[in-house]
Amino acid sequence: MENNYKKLAEAIFPNINKNVEYYENLYSERSKKNNVVTRFAPSPTGYMHLGGLYISLINQSFAHKQNGTFFLRIEDTDQSRILSNGVTEIINTLHNFDINFDEGPINETEDFGEYGPYRQSDRKEIYQTYAKYLIEQGKAYPCFCTKDELEKIRENQNKVGESLIGYGGKYAVCRNLTVNEAIKKIENGESFVIRLKADNNGIKRVTVKDIIRGEINMEDNEIDVVIIKGDGLPTYHFAHVIDDHLMRTTHVIRADEWIPSLPLHLQMFKTLGFKAPQYAHVCPILKLEGDSKRKLSKRKDPEARVGFYFEQGFPIIAVKEYLLNLINSRFELWREKNPELSYKDFDINLNEMSKSGALFDLNKLLNVSKRIIKNMTDEEVFQGILNWSKLYSNNLYQFIIKDENKFKSSIPIWHKNRMDIAKWNEIEKNFDYLYDLNFLQKLNINNEFLNFPYVLEILKDYIESYNQNDEQSVWFEKIKNIANKYNYCVKIKEYKNNPKNYNGSIVDVTTFIRIALTGKKDSPDIYEISQYIKEEEVKKRIKNLIDYLTK
Ligand code: GLU
Repeated sequence: MENNYKKLAEAIFPNINKNVEYYENLYSERSKKNNVVTRFAPSPTGYMHLGGLYISLINQSFAHKQNGTFFLRIEDTDQSRILSNGVTEIINTLHNFDINFDEGPINETEDFGEYGPYRQSDRKEIYQTYAKYLIEQGKAYPCFCTKDELEKIRENQNKVGESLIGYGGKYAVCRNLTVNEAIKKIENGESFVIRLKADNNGIKRVTVKDIIRGEINMEDNEIDVVIIKGDGLPTYHFAHVIDDHLMRTTHVIRADEWIPSLPLHLQMFKTLGFKAPQYAHVCPILKLEGDSKRKLSKRKDPEARVGFYFEQGFPIIAVKEYLLNLINSRFELWREKNPELSYKDFDINLNEMSKSGALFDLNKLLNVSKRIIKNMTDEEVFQGILNWSKLYSNNLYQFIIKDENKFKSSIPIWHKNRMDIAKWNEIEKNFDYLYDLNFLQKLNINNEFLNFPYVLEILKDYIESYNQNDEQSVWFEKIKNIANKYNYCVKIKEYKNNPKNYNGSIVDVTTFIRIALTGKKDSPDIYEISQYIKEEEVKKRIKNLIDYLTK
């Protein structure tokens, strides 16, 4: 019988000359030190979803924190769904988010690492070698059933109320073909797929272990699944088992949509005689809609697309720290206690991950981002804005490169004063008075400050007295003089005790100037703003307000 199976295997894969020992030796066990090996295994079918980034971050952090290996594998066996530059897109996204893999594809054609090739379409021969080996042992077989025949089997199962739906048990008719019958069909040019005989020993249920969910009791697999498709390429199920075995993956951390396949996958590892990795199935990122939670959706939610974060100008590190918050709620406290450490020092504990899904909250991300920007150096802020504007705001970019040093000198004005910014695209809007060459105050006629007595006189005196070369103390002395002249109290306490004795306080006087310079009641230090925009512009803006008030 065994010889017969060998004949069948040879008829199916005449060109496969290597054997499984060859690959087992080629991809030998990794060193004992390397006891954590994880991977990110996306299909290049479109832009990356936040969920993909989330999973890759978990895999990377988990492996690297334990000095393990994290690799990238491209799962491109579904040729009809892949995009032409899909691999580049994935590599660039990971690169832009500073997610570094130790092995994997580095561009559309080249790989780096000892366990490659790292894209499944380049591993056809490997899968076929293992499929051949399974056929030789009578554990896999060719199936010639057509689509229509498969459909009929299903209809029949439904009709008789069969609990098993699919190609398995007595319904797996090609299981019973003799080797000679099968070979004859192959010689006749009939098309076929390769199926793996389900190996559940008649036991219907099985308990599988998941690091996040614990033990899950599930129905075992009874279906003879396809392992090699008509085009000679493997299915995902088969490919990932072979790959994770040969690439010596220790932990498969992937989306929880794969939980239903877990009994099948574990069965495949067993049939092939491989040790299965540990599995951790990660819940999707959820979003609140009304009172209910739903999955973050590519179609409905702009924030589901990774590109969104680049376009908006979130610092990458903020997105990553926010995702770490979602991965382990413990991260927030850890961050508070360890403000100086890199997020890379945080220990991801898979056991602690949510069993129901983490809720995405844009406001929380904005807060994380504000904190990150606040703690950046001025130089880091500069680089962040420069890189972002180069891609997403030509106006700002041109403004910066016209005089980089001048732009740099503006950053501390708002940055050291903790004017909150959560993303780079807020710069132009929030600080238009610094970065808009055509800035004119958007004056509000109802602005209560402008109804104070002597506003015009105060502004006129300010123009008269303003000198760009004044030290801050001299500058402020001049404002005090103006305040005194128009009976605005310069001592805040005194003013608070006897407001009726004055037209206002010095704070009101600086507010008139502030409104003239920035159009806002709140802004960073107006002395510093004035130093940055320079005398001519200061006077132009004050004059503009005077004109507006005298109209
Ligand atoms: N290619 C599969 C996916 O994109 C990978 C699942 C896994 O990580 O095993 O969903």
